Order: sequence, then C-alpha cells, then structure tokens
Amino acid sequence: MDSVAAIEAAVRAQHGRVEALFTELARCGRTDPGFTRPSYSPEETEAHAVVARCAADLGLAIGRDAAANTAMTLPGRDRTLPPILIGSHLDTVAQGGNFDGAAGVVAGLAAVAAIRQLGLEPERDITVMGIRAEESVWFQVSYIGSRAALGALPDGALDAARIDSGLSLAAHIAREGGDPDALRRGPAARDAAIHAFLEVHIEQAPSLEEAGIPVGLCTGIPGNVRYPDVRIAGRYDHVGTPRCFRRDAAMAGAEIALALDRVWAAREAAGCPMAVTFGRFHTDAAAHGLTTVPGEFRFSLDMRAYAAEVLAELEAAFLAAVAEVSARRGVTVTLGSRAEAGAGAVSPRIRDGLAAAADALGIATRPLGSPASHDAAAFAKAGVPMAMLFVRNANGSHNPREAMAIDDLLDAVAILTAWLVAETCAA
Ligand SMILES: [Zn+2]
Repeated sequence: MDSVAAIEAAVRAQHGRVEALFTELARCGRTDPGFTRPSYSPEETEAHAVVARCAADLGLAIGRDAAANTAMTLPGRDRTLPPILIGSHLDTVAQGGNFDGAAGVVAGLAAVAAIRQLGLEPERDITVMGIRAEESVWFQVSYIGSRAALGALPDGALDAARIDSGLSLAAHIAREGGDPDALRRGPAARDAAIHAFLEVHIEQAPSLEEAGIPVGLCTGIPGNVRYPDVRIAGRYDHVGTPRCFRRDAAMAGAEIALALDRVWAAREAAGCPMAVTFGRFHTDAAAHGLTTVPGEFRFSLDMRAYAAEVLAELEAAFLAAVAEVSARRGVTVTLGSRAEAGAGAVSPRIRDGLAAAADALGIATRPLGSPASHDAAAFAKAGVPMAMLFVRNANGSHNPREAMAIDDLLDAVAILTAWLVAETCAA
C-alpha cells in the first residue's frame, strides 16, 4: 500500500472513535433544543474531560494551563523543537450545536490517532488543544482561552462579568480548575515558540454545501471592531411633536445603521468583503410606546473585515455618522466600551501544503474566506504560522441544526494527517 492509501485507511479507521466522541460530547450541556456549554462552565469542563479521556486512551500526555485549556500531546523525537498545535474550542453559544468548535478538537485527536496507527513518530511534539471560552457572547471578550495561552489577554478581561452569572472571568476560571492569579501575574508572553497552529472548523455558511465540496481551505479570518453597548440619549416627547422640536433617539440609531449599511453595500459591490451587524437594536421597553417619541436608544455593533485598513475605514465611517447624526438631531451618543481583534492571515506555505495533501488524496477543496472569528486568528496575531480547514455543514452554526457528516470531517482529517506526516513524520 502506498503512503497516501495508508494514510487514507488509517484515517477512515477512526470513524467509530469520532462518532463515539460526538456522542459523548452531546451529553455535555444538552439543552432543549441544542447544547449550551457556556465559557468556563461545568458543562464546558465536562467536554474537556471527554476529550482528555480519549487522549489518555491514545497514550497522549495530558496537561492543563493556567487558563484551564487542555493540551494533549504526542511527543516528538526532539522535544526541544517548537510544537505543532491543532485545536479549537469546546464551549458553545446558548442552544448551539454539537460541532461548532468541538469538531476541531475531535479532528486533531483523530489525526494523532491515525499517525499512531501508522506507527509513525513525529520529529516534534504534536499537541491537540481543547481551548476554553472562544464564544465571546459569555464574557463579551473574544478568544479568551487562546489569548490566555499566548499571554495576550486584553487588560481588564479577567474582571469581565459573565452575562448570565454576573461572576467575573477570574472567578469562573478558578472554579473550573484554572489559576487566574497566574494569569494576572501573566506569562508576559508564551515562553516557547510554536511551529504552527492548525484548526479544523465547520463552515458557518452553506457555500461548501452549495458547491458540493467537502472541505474548504481558509484564505483568511476577519478582524473585528466591536461596540457592545452604544447609547443614544434624545428626548421623550408626545407623538404629535413637530419635527423641528424632536430629538428622536430611535431615528438617530436607524440613520447611523443605514449609513454603515450603505458603506458596506458600496465596498462589497467593489469586491471588498466585510460585514456590519447591529445585533441588539432597541428602545427602552420600560418607557417606549405607540404615542411616545423615543428618548433613548441602544445598540451593539460588530464590524468585521479581512484587512486592518478596511476595518479602520469602516470604524471611521461609523464615527463620522455618529458625529453628523448627533449634531443634526440634537441627540447625545455615548459609545461605551470598544473591543477589537486583529485579522488573521493564513500561512501561504501551510495552505499550499494542505492543498497538495488534498490533491494527493483526491479530496476536492476550494479556497474560502472565513466569515467568522476563530481561535486561529489569535495565534496568527501572535506571529504563529496558522492555517484552517473548513468542513461542509448544511444548516449554518450557532444553532441546534448544525449538520456535518462524519465522512466530510474525516476528509479534513485525512488532509491534516497527510500534512502532518509530510511536515514532521518524514523518516
Ligand atoms: Zn467556533
């Protein structure tokens, strides 16, 4: 059997292990509908225990860092060489699916299992990482686990409160077995270099499904700028108040939103992908009504793009709209906190290697920009060569209907395994 066929066979042999892992993970944080494994919750910790048990069965060395990320390592011949990391997250949004995040950890374990089955010993460590707290909904901070591992948590992040419990991130980390004090003292930066970070993730849009292709090769991860809670103060008035006397906060919010939507439409028509989302957009339910001019309006804003210049341009357009609309309408806009995450550039060398592996295996792929943010972006920002593989998924993500076929995931695992063999298992 030639080496490509041997890799293919060793990966397909992981079908049962992969299926069993998803079945076990589906018991962690089951809600009706879907799965709820909040960042730093007992349900997330249970999912970490599931993958750690599988890693123990595979004879991997299991470690946990101060942020309670799980590291599962197949040791290399030369342990002084910078390791290859393969990872993704095990938390979910509220009532999410079982594949967003978890598929990447399962894929890493399956690839390492295939390498073991092939009887290969890597030159350098291969570490599968179960990463904490990627879903920024819970603490309104992105990539907490990966940034903590990289010594790159933003200032004040440990004091952020989880939206449901009100407890601080530090308290939640301590409760789930991490060491927030060590994080506060801070490894100023990760001491050891990392050779590469690879992440397998379900696609969040249906483009692979539509194209009939099982695997996408990531071309880039967007950076974002976020304003989680913008407040507009105008004046509550009688519904009959003439236009010239009004200070309508809702109209001001609508104008700001439409100004950004026009920028988005124009840039996209010019071939520049980006996204603008006002996730919350509302008057005050305690005071609004059919016969009252809204005196208060609040919204959240997420702007994302693949290049820092484009993101800066979007933010400038937003701030210009805020200044213009508030002056003209006589309202006051309080921007509140601001958060950002850098765009993640993919390593061309690794992407080319993955493409060559897919060709050798006869697996169809296509290049694909990630519409979403991923842990891999945090590693790229820290200067680690990064690449991602997306797996076909029918019904979007962050919902209980996520639909990924195990055979499609194993296509991605085969590509990943063939790349690992070429990269670090050569005789
Ligand atoms: Zn995810």
